[in-house]
Amino acid sequence: MDTRVRFAPSPTGYVHIGSLRTALYDYLYAKGKQGKYILRIEDTDRSRFVEGALENLIKSLEWAGVKHDEGIFIENGEVIQKGEYGPYIQSERLDLYKEHIDILIEKGLAYRCFCSKERLDKVREEQKRKGQTPMYDKHCRGLSQEEIDRNINEGKDYVIRLKIPEDESIEFKDLIRGNISIDSKEIDDQVLIKSDGFPTYHFAVVVDDHLMKISHIIRGEEWLTSTPKQVILYNYFGWEVPEFVHLPTVLNKDKKKLSKRQGDVSVSDFKDKGYLPEALVNYLALVGWSPKGNNEIFSMEELIEEFSFENVSKTGGVFDVEKLNWVNSQYIKNYDNDKLYELVKPFVLKADLLDKEEYEARKNWLINIIDLVKEKINYLEEIIPHVEMFMGTEVKADEEVKETLKQEGVKELLEAFIKELQNINDVDDEFTKTIFKKLQKETGSKGKNLYMPLRGAVTGHLHGPDMGKTFILLGKVNLIDRLNYTLDKYTK
Ligand code: GLU
Repeated sequence: MDTRVRFAPSPTGYVHIGSLRTALYDYLYAKGKQGKYILRIEDTDRSRFVEGALENLIKSLEWAGVKHDEGIFIENGEVIQKGEYGPYIQSERLDLYKEHIDILIEKGLAYRCFCSKERLDKVREEQKRKGQTPMYDKHCRGLSQEEIDRNINEGKDYVIRLKIPEDESIEFKDLIRGNISIDSKEIDDQVLIKSDGFPTYHFAVVVDDHLMKISHIIRGEEWLTSTPKQVILYNYFGWEVPEFVHLPTVLNKDKKKLSKRQGDVSVSDFKDKGYLPEALVNYLALVGWSPKGNNEIFSMEELIEEFSFENVSKTGGVFDVEKLNWVNSQYIKNYDNDKLYELVKPFVLKADLLDKEEYEARKNWLINIIDLVKEKINYLEEIIPHVEMFMGTEVKADEEVKETLKQEGVKELLEAFIKELQNINDVDDEFTKTIFKKLQKETGSKGKNLYMPLRGAVTGHLHGPDMGKTFILLGKVNLIDRLNYTLDKYTK
């Protein structure tokens, strides 16, 4: 059987990084088996419909490089569908669900339920009071054909429910969790078709996965409890049951589900901060999956090669932003400067440091800054204070820097530095190699007492990239201006 996997999100307006990880594992598995990876949209819950969500979803996946072979795409601003098993949007497949629910009703495996909301609430309350798990009490299972016809003629609303078999053990295999079996007594008579005529997730997902010839259903573990109901449906239709893979939830550091309230969770949050797609994907692959060796940096091709469900844990994977930062910084460090120059552009423009023309005109200067600081940043947005630091001649010092600059000997040190600068044409390697020794000799300041005030005086920071290179980049005139500014403002 060909390997065909699908990622089947509901377009809720943003893509949670947990969803991106599911999509990624789908993709890696499919590619590793020379199979197909399909993007299907599950939009039958009309109350959750969000304008523009589809576009955002596809763009986020595309940005991450998790590219599907079949399903929904955007081309020239239009949503289009490609593949022989479409439509790939559930709301366009209603006739297929109708056709299939009729088969179940015909066979007596699904039934119409006319119970009012009031009745269902009452039953639930009663069950809760008795300490039982709330479940439909199967009241409409036994309706005669006459009663059903009468209700329909009277125009009563109804849903269609799945007739769960009595007293059976429902069994299936999960590639991560092994064999699972559930007593059918514990399964509710699931609604398959809602009163608005739309299918529920449970019904649509089975019809679609079967008709789209999906071989492996890879999804979050929150769907594990739905699987027995779906297995029953496969059995009722006489269809081959696909393989199931339920992935561990992406957790935060407190081992709780990673939620929006704790900060960045959507793919666009990370994109907007300047995480590189390769790095985000690389890191996400490691959240729940452990590669065999010690290597942690993988290209997409390497991930495809290495990935297997054998090494995916049963328990949740912890999403650790610090680790992500480390992975991202490795990628930034190794990116070439020209590429970074392009990538950093939107951040610099957005921060209003330069306009478009200035950005082009100062390319060399920017590339020098990028080269100098790319080892220091975790994500691209972090370049902003560095670029800012090289602009203008004012030195913005915080309290700690101010304290350092007030110390004894600093004034003399900075004056000596200005003198040395006045004696040269411009700052070059030669100058930066000798200047620290010279100043030490002249002023007696050394070590921390030499480096910290010098850096603080010209940059406003006590730590930062290579100081010699920083001096070269600032240049003689700017350095003297900054030193004078500091002398004036911060020293005593
Ligand atoms: N539509 C479901 C979701 O939003 C898909 C679940 C599944 O993959 O079966 O995640």
